[in-house]
Amino acid sequence: MPVNPRRVHALRHAPDGGGPVLYWMSREQRAHDNWGLLHARELAGARRPLVAAFCLAARFAGAALRQYDFMLAGLEQTARTLAGLGIPLVLLEGDPGGEIPRLAARLRAGVVVTDFDPLRIKRDWQTRAARALDAPLLEVDGHNVVPCRIASYKKEYAARTIRPRIHKLLPEFLEEFPTLEPQQAPVPELPAPDWARVRQGLRADPGVAPVPTPSGETAALAALAAFVSAVLPRYAAGRNDPNAGATSRLSPYRNFGQLAPQRAALDVAASGGGENQAAFLEELVVRRELADNFCLHSPGYDTLDAAPDWARRTLDEHRADPRPHIYSREAFEAGATHDRLWNAAQNQMRASGAMHGYLRMYWAKKILEWSPDPESALATAIALNDRHLLDGRDPNGYTGILWSVAGLHDRPWARRPVIGTIRAMTESGCRRKFDVAAYIRRWGG
Ligand SMILES: Cc1cc2nc3c(=O)[nH]c(=O)nc-3n(C[C@H](O)[C@H](O)[C@H](O)COP(=O)(O)OP(=O)(O)OC[C@H]3O[C@@H](n4cnc5c(N)ncnc54)[C@H](O)[C@@H]3O)c2cc1C
Repeated sequence: MPVNPRRVHALRHAPDGGGPVLYWMSREQRAHDNWGLLHARELAGARRPLVAAFCLAARFAGAALRQYDFMLAGLEQTARTLAGLGIPLVLLEGDPGGEIPRLAARLRAGVVVTDFDPLRIKRDWQTRAARALDAPLLEVDGHNVVPCRIASYKKEYAARTIRPRIHKLLPEFLEEFPTLEPQQAPVPELPAPDWARVRQGLRADPGVAPVPTPSGETAALAALAAFVSAVLPRYAAGRNDPNAGATSRLSPYRNFGQLAPQRAALDVAASGGGENQAAFLEELVVRRELADNFCLHSPGYDTLDAAPDWARRTLDEHRADPRPHIYSREAFEAGATHDRLWNAAQNQMRASGAMHGYLRMYWAKKILEWSPDPESALATAIALNDRHLLDGRDPNGYTGILWSVAGLHDRPWARRPVIGTIRAMTESGCRRKFDVAAYIRRWGG
């Protein structure tokens, strides 16, 4: 079954020279269930060599040792799986916008295929690579069930506007993946990745230590299977309770492309059609694809410029309001505020690289209340999110933070000091939803 051509978007038009096919792995760091790799394999067919490459950028959007460690463990496994299928993975280091075209030239690649990614840094790499390449550069959306560029050609207002578009297109795109066929063609002699050397040479911040969360495609599929069989039946009722363990915790795997969201959607849909499945698919498909849509169409996705007008206005009107508590970024990072629930959430993030979704909203909204101004609140929330979380540096993060701090995809609520008409969250509200004391006991506040 061929890859649906509507998943493919040309970033550079040029004639395919017929030489080897280069798959530039970037957002989708997996061997299976990967539309970009499947398309590259399809183009290679029986006679053209297929080579995969990943380029390790030394400093990626605030990532620390924790994230590099998780990513390299997953990539190493992916390289082994690909080698078993006769497909070499070349590990490059440096600036992907320059290194990928150099490798393509060395291989005399006829065509280069890469992953869709709406983040600025990735789009910059792709733009520069497209300029330097002699071959066509094709982008394939392997992250969204309904490809982001097909779901909508413009910035959507809210979940309610993108939802009908996605649901209409699901019958076309929510299809089973074909199997990745082993490579038959002889491949050029290429250096095997030296993982130990690359790890030793990492200059990532060791202040955020690796966590024991198992990494890689196998761990991702095991986590998905465990979620579907044991946790999904509690998802709709329990997902807003941080003590309930009722969410999937799949986001690190999805963030590093070790799990196709479409695989999760297929397995969850196959498990039944009740409220748990519907609630999960709403988050995994609609909310997540809304985040990609926002970042694709709002290049300033990490600034207040991307917030709705009403939200920017209300935050301006309340700039001079007295703030009973103001904390520095260091105090926030250390979890040293007056609020034990907030501190416990921050501790969870620092210690485990994860934070429950319900508390992420509370966490970010309090940063807005306790910062000198909305700009520094946004910068602090993004910096801490991206530094500590395994799923940070992702469109979901920028979107979730702007939703919490600046009314994105939301509407005005009752007016309050400092936050104006941005939707408020309070500790007493949390107490009504879940056992706050138990959460503080677990993570320390
Ligand atoms: C302030 C704030 C910061 C956030 N930062 C990040 C981040 O850095 N990275 C990240 O991936 N998510 C982020 N989110 C979104 C969401 O909280 C997480 O995706 C979710 O908590 C991950 O846990 P899970 O996999 O157990 O989720 P589940 O409830 O099991 O959901 C399944 C999947 O659906 C998607 N999803 C769930 N909730 C959302 C949502 N609100 N928006 C978009 N997609 C969603 C995720 O891919 C998730 O893995 C943030 C939300 C807020 C409010």
